Amino acid sequence: MSTVTTPANFTELGLITPLLARLTELEYQQPTPIQAQAIPSVLAGRDLIAGANTGSGKTATFALPILQQIHEQADKTPSSKGNYVTALILVPTRELAKQVADSIKSYAVHFNGAIKTLAVFGGVSANTQMLALRGGTDILVATPGRLLDLISSNAIKLDKVKTLVLDEADRMLSLGFTEELSALLALTPKQKQILLFSATFPEQVKSLTQELLNNPVEIQVQSSDASTLVQRVFTVNKGEKTALLAHLIQLHQWRQALIFVNAKNNCEHLAEKLIKRGIRAEVFHGDKGQSERTRVLDGFKAGEIEVLIATDIAARGLDIEKLPVVINFNLPRSPSDYMHRIGRSGRAGEVGLALSLIDYEDYHHFKVIEKKNKIRLEREQVEGFEVDEIITDAILAANKPMAKPEGSGKKKRKKKPQVNADIWLKNS
Ligand code: AMP
Repeated sequence: MSTVTTPANFTELGLITPLLARLTELEYQQPTPIQAQAIPSVLAGRDLIAGANTGSGKTATFALPILQQIHEQADKTPSSKGNYVTALILVPTRELAKQVADSIKSYAVHFNGAIKTLAVFGGVSANTQMLALRGGTDILVATPGRLLDLISSNAIKLDKVKTLVLDEADRMLSLGFTEELSALLALTPKQKQILLFSATFPEQVKSLTQELLNNPVEIQVQSSDASTLVQRVFTVNKGEKTALLAHLIQLHQWRQALIFVNAKNNCEHLAEKLIKRGIRAEVFHGDKGQSERTRVLDGFKAGEIEVLIATDIAARGLDIEKLPVVINFNLPRSPSDYMHRIGRSGRAGEVGLALSLIDYEDYHHFKVIEKKNKIRLEREQVEGFEVDEIITDAILAANKPMAKPEGSGKKKRKKKPQVNADIWLKNS
């Protein structure tokens, strides 16, 4: 795979005026590396396999060429095509489906409604989606399960698909969409352009790529934004994490914070504890109804919700503008999810902060996360929350899995905790 560092400008990429005008309005000054590298090839009809970090601008990488192709084809194809789809974008989560469709609609404003874009996903009424699909759609963004349902009700057909995008392919496969994907692929024409995006390339994704793609252009982009995201890890005694979290939130007064936990009920428990400490927090997880998920996410994106506690359904793809901090209250099980979680902050060149709070039970797993992601972070302590025992690599090696250190656990704090000022100076 090639690595690109010098972006061209948008005009040089071969994009047409309605798109260029929109990019100017959106104040996109220059293409991101993945856009610079991929857009000309996608416009030329090539298959693409792209490894790009979250926040790299990959939505525009496929959306802009697809809009341009559809616009240019519109003159040549008759308008009445039944329940057709021209470009199909498969994504793993409902929120991502909505977000991607919203971005495409935004890029398309200067086509004045001539290009129809819809999102379909589970958790909401299928009837409304069926009605919207009447007469077909140029671009369909879908989660696999709901799309199969709509196909079996004859609401839509995939036999006219010209471009297929698999966004977050690794995530789709890890969420168990393998069978749905095969079923959907079998319904698309043999001759089509495929664009596959994946942050990581596990075996399943590699074999999917080999089966599906035809002489693809391969691009691996190192996000130029990586340096704007500061990662830190704070050690804390077990039983004191919530107090430390509340303290950090109150002290630092972040405009917003996204806090990751590992289970749906942990979201609720932690929210209750924070609320008792005077911090307004909302939760986002898979047991919430779709209207509640939409309300919370829209509220968070609009900046109305300041503290959001979420499971990993919020870890992938979501684009929250200028999110100042992501906090791992529980570590993610998979090292790649660590990268996805922290990628919610520091997007598109913004400065971001990713904090992980680890107690003695997390030490070993955090080392695994570091090793897999080829990072090594200094263990820091927050004044007033010092750990009872500093766990060194040597202790770790001798003690797998970690035994509970003497004296660890909930303890009464006498003085009001304070954060070492220079911890924050680096990030303020
Ligand atoms: P994505 O990786 O597609 O989720 O995009 C991340 C964020 O970057 C979104 O808010 C986009 O609007 C923004 N973005 C994408 N391309 C550019 C660009 N060339 N210049 C500035 N912002 C961009």
